[in-house]
Amino acid sequence: MNLILLGAPGAGKGTQSEKISERYGIPAIATGDILRKAIQEGTEMGKAAKSYMDAGRLVPDEVVIGIIRDYLASDACRNGFILDGFPRSIPQAEALDAMGIRIDVVLSLEVPDEKIVERMSGRRVCSCGASYHVTYKPPKTEGVCDKCGAALYIRDDDAEETVRRRLATFHAQTEPLKEYYSSRGLLLTVQGQEEVADTTALVLGALRRFEA
Ligand code: AMP
Repeated sequence: MNLILLGAPGAGKGTQSEKISERYGIPAIATGDILRKAIQEGTEMGKAAKSYMDAGRLVPDEVVIGIIRDYLASDACRNGFILDGFPRSIPQAEALDAMGIRIDVVLSLEVPDEKIVERMSGRRVCSCGASYHVTYKPPKTEGVCDKCGAALYIRDDDAEETVRRRLATFHAQTEPLKEYYSSRGLLLTVQGQEEVADTTALVLGALRRFEA
């Protein structure tokens, strides 16, 4: 299954992509995680991306398209993949089409803006890619990743002002992708629920009909 997860920042794409990845045994490719890792490692790509990310803007297309091209060509994606955070604009979707990549389903996770702002203020993340929320998805030990034991941290771009900028970027540049994919008959919409498990049940239920 070749799947794209669409949704505002903080809609729960990362959390749901973990669940889909476990269910179908396909890798989740999160451009945001890859960029944050590059920043931590101090690579040229990280340096180029940081100022855009800190400002809540999209990193230039050539950077993210290059990342995706490399990942999709790798052996790990042979049986399918989940794209979490890519494409984020029409030009990126067109670049994906131009790579000749077949997409089976585009799942849009819908969450109202005010809910997003509330969620982001409680988000805690780990450098391994795991994501938690102090109220909705707390780790077993406060401040410590369940998966790898590392210390959790607050993302720089989760400050409220930056979250609002990211939401504006989402509405202006990413949301038009819903029309782009619905006109191709690929769009599935799921309403994000209060409880993660309830959203997961809806997501996995909706994907069942795409099973081979
Ligand atoms: P995320 O972790 O998906 O919320 O992404 C965090 C930040 O990384 C975004 O606010 C963007 O600055 C950048 N980013 C992630 N994916 C993309 C993409 N496909 N295109 C451009 N910028 C991206």
